Amino acid sequence: MSSTTEYEAVIGLETHVQLRTRSKMWCGCANEFGAPPNTNVCPVCLGLPGVLPVANEEALRLTVLAGLLLNCEIPARARFDRKNYFYPDMPKNYQITQYDQPSAVRGWVDFEFEGAIQRVRITRAHLEEDVGKSMHFAQTSGVDFNRAGVPLLEIVSEPDITSADMAYAYLNALKDILVFGGISDCDMEKGMVRCDVNVSVRPRGTSQLGAKIEIKNMNSFSGVRRALEYEIQRQVSVLKSGGQLVQSTRRWDDQTGVTEEMRTKEYAHDYRYFPDPDLMAFVPSEQWVNDVRKCVVELPLARKQRFMRDYKLPAGDAQVFVDDVPLGDYFELVARHTPNPKGAANWVINNMRALMVQTGKALKDIRFKPEAIGELVALVDQGKISSKSAQEVFAEMFLTGESPSAIVDRKGLVQVSDTAAVEAFCDQAIAANPGPVADFKAGKAAALNFLKGQVMKLSRGRANPALVGEILEKKLKG
Ligand code: ADP
Ligand code: MG
Ligand code: ZN
Repeated sequence: MSSTTEYEAVIGLETHVQLRTRSKMWCGCANEFGAPPNTNVCPVCLGLPGVLPVANEEALRLTVLAGLLLNCEIPARARFDRKNYFYPDMPKNYQITQYDQPSAVRGWVDFEFEGAIQRVRITRAHLEEDVGKSMHFAQTSGVDFNRAGVPLLEIVSEPDITSADMAYAYLNALKDILVFGGISDCDMEKGMVRCDVNVSVRPRGTSQLGAKIEIKNMNSFSGVRRALEYEIQRQVSVLKSGGQLVQSTRRWDDQTGVTEEMRTKEYAHDYRYFPDPDLMAFVPSEQWVNDVRKCVVELPLARKQRFMRDYKLPAGDAQVFVDDVPLGDYFELVARHTPNPKGAANWVINNMRALMVQTGKALKDIRFKPEAIGELVALVDQGKISSKSAQEVFAEMFLTGESPSAIVDRKGLVQVSDTAAVEAFCDQAIAANPGPVADFKAGKAAALNFLKGQVMKLSRGRANPALVGEILEKKLKG
């Protein structure tokens, strides 16, 4: 069914992430996953009468920082409202949330998707509180309130996403940014990221939005992708068969792989939002916002692009240095000491990282200085040692911390580029291998590689390989 040629999907995501704070949003209880049920609770987060919430400044700071990382404007004034509804996991019967005056508005996320940079605009990012967790047993149900009052950042996107795959890429990019910036650990297994998915379809090329269908409370990115694939097809089928879609909320069933309707028509006014009388408006000083601004780190995509541009690295290498920031920072120290950063990156990624894994060593345990890698690259680039010897040198410097040139001298690894000396090795190899020599003469080009290998062996890896090839060919063809 090529429905996607006649219709296009329009998707907007509301992503909730738990902030990485020590304590909860309005009380001193620990913001901690995995404690025994109802051990991180107090009168405030249990919603007992007569208590007063006190805003967690670290949560406010992380919210503004997230806003800055998402290229948002930070309004001079934010406010907390009560969103009223009943649910057993929420003892106050309202959730405190930033409603019409959020802490961050109008930003965007850039990310790579299908070979291009895509931009999804961010409508707003606002701070709210998480609710408890209902648990259902054989005969009874219970609620664990450890999660109640954990600071939660909701990031609302504009409906700029056009496919299930693009939604998946956006979510991963968003997660990378938030982890990079220290906003959230975004541990999916621990439920730190949850997502409401809004999707409609419309005839391709038209601009009016179709009826918005919301799929609530998705807790995995692959689930979001699967749910969207299903839901887009379903909506297109309804329209194609002459049916109508109405704004509604659906639930994704991961087992059966379908969405099913939960309720229709739910609007903001149903919640009777009003400003929480117990909380002051949040009006950060310019100085405070500027201090937060100092913690804005380079974003993953910007880092990747910079490594590709400044060091002429292929995308794969640059990505390694994005995924492993300390390794990338180390590489940048190395790159100061070499005109061949790509050569240095190879050593760092292929050799150093592998040896670190093998030996269980961390960067701080590396015995040689970063410039030693630059020196090694130069020795190879200038033809002083073969790349094979360089491997030996690297293993040795990793072990002892000795400088590459000292190891080369000590082990006599200087490459033999002297024609007469290489010729002598070649003659020896030819004399010792009449079979392959005959093969080569009979037209088997591959036999040359075997003979080259013999010469390298005889020279203990020191003969200049380019020269070996040249001389062997001359001798065998002549
Ligand atoms: P609500 O007030 O019902 O929460 P919003 O207008 O705040 O609705 O939008 C919630 C999310 O739904 C946003 O991410 C927005 O981009 C997205 N959205 C809004 N309208 C549509 C639509 N017609 N189709 C797909 N997504 C939509
Ligand atoms: Mg909403
Ligand atoms: Zn508490």
